[in-house]
Amino acid sequence: MTADLTNPVFQDEAKAREWLEASRWPNGAICPHCRATGERVKRLEGKVGRPGLWQCYECDQQFTVTVGTLYERSHIPLHKWLLATHLLTSSKKGISAHQLHRMLGITYKSAWFMAHRIREAMGDSGETPMGSGGGTVEADETYIGRKPARAKRTGHGHKLAVMSLVERGGGVRSFHVDDVSAATLRPILDKNVSRDAHLMSDEAKTYTEIGWNFASHKTVRHGIDEYVRGTAHTNTIEGFFSIFKRGMKGVYQHCGEQHLHRYLKEFDFRYSNRKVTDAERARKALKGIEGKRLTYRRTSQRLARPQAQA
Ligand SMILES: [Zn+2]
Repeated sequence: MTADLTNPVFQDEAKAREWLEASRWPNGAICPHCRATGERVKRLEGKVGRPGLWQCYECDQQFTVTVGTLYERSHIPLHKWLLATHLLTSSKKGISAHQLHRMLGITYKSAWFMAHRIREAMGDSGETPMGSGGGTVEADETYIGRKPARAKRTGHGHKLAVMSLVERGGGVRSFHVDDVSAATLRPILDKNVSRDAHLMSDEAKTYTEIGWNFASHKTVRHGIDEYVRGTAHTNTIEGFFSIFKRGMKGVYQHCGEQHLHRYLKEFDFRYSNRKVTDAERARKALKGIEGKRLTYRRTSQRLARPQAQA
């Protein structure tokens, strides 16, 4: 898919469907109900039913290419979904529901739901630990927004805490955490960072208690304005936090606490895939969209009502 916004797949429903079929089924259609392929599945060529309908002669059910994806059973046309997916995966700082609403000619509410569903699909599978084979992983926290019903004060008490892990030269994983105690951060590090990784962090007690679990652990003392000492620094993660914060400030001004993890997925996804082309990034998001139908249903229930502006 070319990243050009005039690409017909973003304008024309039939072209969008053809593109998604070619992308999901490079070797021919697969029945989502029974996995039958080849001669057992046939396109219903405009005879009966709506366009894009297939018939499975193995299990006798019908399907379209969107069954089992995030796009299933949406009243929004597929070409608008593809455009929204492209815009969210390629805009460096993200794109607001207001912008999507204007660009796609759909209601603000629909745009808001679409954007959150697409964010759900952007999740890093998180299966392989970061820093495997002796890589370097930087860990740090940042604070953003404001907890509900908390007055603004000095310090971080009224803000939402985010802990991120960045592998130098690689991807990022971010977590919305209740606090930054060792008890909270330890399981995240255990699950996401390889034992043979070199860990870099500030000298917070949390990390000094956990750091011995890894191949090495170096710290810089942010408390006394020490930011770089040889290879010991957290500049990579500071770079990510700066993109994240600029994006959240500029585009997503009022992010509710219950939605923060989805925005984190979005920023993680774009950062982790920053070295690939826009088209490749959109394809990767599409991969995440496969099999996300359950997530999509859960999301719809959780997203009862759009927050203003988010
Ligand atoms: Zn079937």
